[in-house]
Amino acid sequence: MPLDIVILGPPGAGKGTQAAKIEADAGIPHIATGDIVRAEMAAETPFGLRVMEYNLRGELVPDELMIERVRERLLEGDTEDGFVLDGFPRTLAQAQALDAMLDDLDRSIRVVLHFQLPEELAEQRLLGRALASGRADDTPEVIHKRMATMRVPHDLIAYYRALGNLVGIHADRSIEEVYAEVQNVLETAAA
Ligand code: ADP
Repeated sequence: MPLDIVILGPPGAGKGTQAAKIEADAGIPHIATGDIVRAEMAAETPFGLRVMEYNLRGELVPDELMIERVRERLLEGDTEDGFVLDGFPRTLAQAQALDAMLDDLDRSIRVVLHFQLPEELAEQRLLGRALASGRADDTPEVIHKRMATMRVPHDLIAYYRALGNLVGIHADRSIEEVYAEVQNVLETAAA
């Protein structure tokens, strides 16, 4: 069975950092939908042009558009042994669509890693990331606002909790400590 993983958590939780480690160790691709959206807007693909208006307004891309794009991505050959999905699902409708599309492929989400940490700490990390990358537009105020809009919705958490594959990750520790916990969870999930 492929190792299909979903990562949930606020921006700054360390999702990208840990997903890159899983990708390197498990040989399954890190699929970050935010990266896909940004890359396609920059390349002005048909999808990129369609989502640009929502992005410019600071809104989420409509479910149907995002679901279709993720479906295409998951059908690419590199997901054969699994994937780490980061940034999707963001709504209950997306979660249900993801389950339906995986079901069609005779596969299912093995584990949902829910990265948890105090929002102040996530904001501090994002400020550090902004400074490191020279993104001067990421001020404390902008980051604070984004944090509120990007909070993982309760119905999504409740959905996965009810399915029984939700595992909380203590993301308020060092990168190595978090990764040790992630590895433990994945070993149990893969067994
Ligand atoms: P996300 O993908 O959840 O938005 P990132 O992986 O981009 O988060 O991490 C956000 C910032 O926090 C980055 O600068 C990253 O280096 C840093 N970071 C990630 N994990 C940790 C950690 N466990 N401890 C300290 N800093 C971290």
